[in-house]
Amino acid sequence: MQKGTIDVKTENIFPIIKKFLYSDHEIFLRELVSNAVDATQKLKTLASSGEFQGELGDLTIQVELDKKAKTLTIRDRGIGMNQEEVEKYINQIAFSSAEEFVNKFKTKSEAEANAIIGHFGLGFYSSFMVSEKVELFSKTYKTEGDIDAVKWECDGSPSYTIEKSSKNERGTAVVLHIDKENEDFLEEYKIKQLLDKYCKFLPVAIQFGTEKTEEPIEGEKDKDGNPKTKTVEKPRIINNTAPLWKKAPADIKDEEYKAFYHELYPLNFDEPLFHIHLNVDYPFNLTGILYFPKVKSNYELQRNKIQLYSNQVFVTDSVEGIVPDFLTLLHGVIDSPDIPLNVSRSFLQSDQNVKKISGYITKKVADKLEELFKKDREVFEKKWDDIKIFIQYGMISDPKFYERAEKFVLFKNTDGKYFTAEEYKTHIETNQKDKDKKLIYLYANNMDEQFSYIEAAKERGYDVLLMDGILDSHFINTMEQKLADSSFTRVDANTIDKLIVKEDDALPSKLDDKQKESLKTVFEQLIDKKMFDINFENRSESDSPIVITQNEFMRRMKEMNAVGGGGMMGLGDLPDSYSLVVNTNHPLIASLPEKEEAEQQKTISQLYDLARLSKNLLKGKALNDFVKRSLEIIQ
Ligand code: ADP
Repeated sequence: MQKGTIDVKTENIFPIIKKFLYSDHEIFLRELVSNAVDATQKLKTLASSGEFQGELGDLTIQVELDKKAKTLTIRDRGIGMNQEEVEKYINQIAFSSAEEFVNKFKTKSEAEANAIIGHFGLGFYSSFMVSEKVELFSKTYKTEGDIDAVKWECDGSPSYTIEKSSKNERGTAVVLHIDKENEDFLEEYKIKQLLDKYCKFLPVAIQFGTEKTEEPIEGEKDKDGNPKTKTVEKPRIINNTAPLWKKAPADIKDEEYKAFYHELYPLNFDEPLFHIHLNVDYPFNLTGILYFPKVKSNYELQRNKIQLYSNQVFVTDSVEGIVPDFLTLLHGVIDSPDIPLNVSRSFLQSDQNVKKISGYITKKVADKLEELFKKDREVFEKKWDDIKIFIQYGMISDPKFYERAEKFVLFKNTDGKYFTAEEYKTHIETNQKDKDKKLIYLYANNMDEQFSYIEAAKERGYDVLLMDGILDSHFINTMEQKLADSSFTRVDANTIDKLIVKEDDALPSKLDDKQKESLKTVFEQLIDKKMFDINFENRSESDSPIVITQNEFMRRMKEMNAVGGGGMMGLGDLPDSYSLVVNTNHPLIASLPEKEEAEQQKTISQLYDLARLSKNLLKGKALNDFVKRSLEIIQ
């Protein structure tokens, strides 16, 4: 046996590995299994080039748990190492790169360091995060020179031992003696869970334990004529070595894409809306499949569903900085060895390669959406309500995507008809302008609450958009900035005749100024003046006697203020401000001056309450008073 000391350059990193990389301990398994995969792939390459001529045999990687001995073993049948190679690769190269890695990130905060360790970097020595002792047994594939099997052992201090071993099979076995604090890594479910997370799509089969399945017994049937089955125990292979994203899109059926979606998200039973297969090899390497998920009615924006892989090794499922923000709402996988992995997020965001990748993904998503739109408008419209959120988010947050999506973004009106931006503009262009000749996009964001206003607009031949999505108010802001001479106005922002102005529709008034003045005084005694101001308007006889409107600008300010947490511009909680629009030409209003004051008050109160009722503003005592008064009137 030979003893030695690992060439420590700066300081002993073992205690640091154990402590400072605390919360991401689990990545040790990915590092070791990836090494086993690499060693296996290397052997395959040597075999195909003829450099290795022996039997490849079964190359399945074994992960073995021995609870009694408190060990976890990762065993491969790859190229293996002789003594000289163990000294070179394990003692020197692996150690100094671990050292470099640790030193680089020692100065960072724990949170930052953990964010980085989650990516690649620590390699073989990550095994010391969970072990009190690590043994490595290896036998090289070579048949000449130093071909003895070798055992290396280290107890988490810079000294190690190396000696001959009786291992007679080619390849490497790394035996981890799990330490006291990490005994949960001796639980089968835990290891299974980690293998599922990190190794699910590694390109070499990985076995972890066995599983029981029912298999038909040939030629034997039960009394009902069904084949008899027997229970057989089989190796449990935890990974899919040829994941769908690695195959050529032309060879894949739609059902396979769907099945793969469920393989990725076993707990999500919804079907994806559609998918995009990513496949580039220049100027960077990237493959993957993105899915547009089905939007639930109580949809919460679920991020972190896209999984990032590097050569089929799971890296992370938080992809901010790598894909454009709006695409973090999609599901699926991205696999790229060209994304720098052991760097911080802020670095990722400014990395040129990452910028290119992000731009490419945006372009592909836009291509796919445009293709769907052009190929089958009807299908696209059917999917619209579900995909709207992604497209609007993209348009709001990414100017490049906006440029593309302008052509296929749809507007839906309150009759359920869909228009492109261009079509809609043409649809309303001649008919819907305000007094400054600005084009008015009328919209509603609640069909029930704004029902009477929608009807009033439609009666006059105007079109009303339905903008009731979670992003619609932001989307409206974006569109207003992009569209020239246009504005979006909710149907109840004013009376419809004030919103959209026709040349010759000014009506005379049945009340003169003096009458209006004195009526105004009566109104003011009865209404909540903090909430409402009074406007007399000469509308048609058939329009409502009183309508409540809410100024578009003030309402938006209030909504933004609510979202922004109240403090915006020091406005605090803005009050609601509404207008009471009194129709001077309605018979009930026009006849008021002829009535006694008591009678006036009764009529006004009743009309005021009805207006509030139709705007859902009548509550509590006011509602109760209204009900009583109404009953009196009927009696
Ligand atoms: P990396 O895998 O990033 O090179 P590691 O620290 O994980 O860094 O490993 C260092 C080196 O040790 C590897 O490059 C490889 O040469 C050797 N090695 C590690 N594990 C194995 C293994 N299972 N079989 C053969 N060689 C291995």
